Amino acid sequence: MSELVIKGGRVLDATGEREADVLVRGGHVVAIGVGLVGDETLDASGCIVTPGLVDLHVHLREPGMEEAETVETGTRAAARGGFTAVVAMPNTTPPLDDPAVVAAVLAAGERAACTVVSAGCITKGRAGQELAPMGELHGLGVRIFSDDGDCVDDAGVMRRALEYSTALPGAVIAQHAEDSALVAGGAMHEGEWSSRLGIPGRPAAAEEVIIARDVILAALTGARLHFLHVSTAGSVELVRAAKARGLPVTAEAAPHHFTLTDECCATFDPMFKVNPPLRSDADVAAIKAALADGTIDAIATDHAPHPTEAKERPFEEAPSGMLGLETALALTWTELVEPGVLTPQEAFALLSWRPAAIAGLLERGQGVAIEPGSDAHLCVFDPSQRWEVDPQRLASKARNTPFAGRTLTGKVRHTVLRGKPVVIDGELT
Ligand SMILES: [Zn+2]
Repeated sequence: MSELVIKGGRVLDATGEREADVLVRGGHVVAIGVGLVGDETLDASGCIVTPGLVDLHVHLREPGMEEAETVETGTRAAARGGFTAVVAMPNTTPPLDDPAVVAAVLAAGERAACTVVSAGCITKGRAGQELAPMGELHGLGVRIFSDDGDCVDDAGVMRRALEYSTALPGAVIAQHAEDSALVAGGAMHEGEWSSRLGIPGRPAAAEEVIIARDVILAALTGARLHFLHVSTAGSVELVRAAKARGLPVTAEAAPHHFTLTDECCATFDPMFKVNPPLRSDADVAAIKAALADGTIDAIATDHAPHPTEAKERPFEEAPSGMLGLETALALTWTELVEPGVLTPQEAFALLSWRPAAIAGLLERGQGVAIEPGSDAHLCVFDPSQRWEVDPQRLASKARNTPFAGRTLTGKVRHTVLRGKPVVIDGELT
């Protein structure tokens, strides 16, 4: 059996850091140490070798919007971004409320450049009324249930979903917290910039009222609750208070919510349109502080590809969402690690083993530690390489990144999935 050695890097995982080579055979790490030799060598000099990244929130668009992305192209983008597992969100057409549709996405994932786990809908058709067949979906391996793209507005439905989930081992209800009535007609954050630009707003309160309500329902039901793309200072306070009470509540933040503000919308460029919207400077500061103090558990991209024509429409008519998989780690490094907001280990915790724990992926081989016997899902990251984001060079089928032209520090050099390199020197194999 052939052996792969990842040579000359600094191994960083939940247990610490050390200079070491990593030897991989048959899909597993078999040795860590200096001077290891294999049949094939990946140069990791100057690099950090870490457990593969895990993204709790990607839109792979299959089935139904394959002109924007597919399981194949989205996972290629993920691999280039250092991810070895992604959670596919269920707002597809048809939606992932049906065991047969979920099974088809999982089957496409078997051939993909990273592990694909499917989220399942909370409600049938994501209509917010009747519960989806959560038990059957759980039987297929679904652990994260969400109507993402839309909020579960009805408190009674949310209560039933939370109650039902407690009977499903490992299940977590993931809320897209935006009260539909409060955001109706809004296209950006409601604040000084929305009034100046004359664009209808989506208030921070729309997110916060749902988070406040759902924390109360989590306490009532004892269920695990996860908040997708938390974006406001008030939301952070609510999550912090829920954790202080010992409730099983977790939260994620997206890179665009700690790197961009609503001022970007002054360009009227729909690349900056996303739900929840880009917020104020004070909100961005609160998200960074929450990432640093552990209030927010994970960085998740909310990778949302759209065809170019769709994003060329006027701001208010264009669809919401932006790409994230190929820029998340470099943005985290450039905006949070280099300025000293996070240590390297904290950054990789937020991008790898903490989201893996939320999605139940540690039981399926995603790593907390790189040690003999662990599954070889690895990211080899060069923290000193500077590069410019060029939409034309992304592996994603779509081009809607708001970071075009931005120079970032840190690039994925190699990605290893099940012991096989899927990215070598930044290029897909
Ligand atoms: Zn969402």
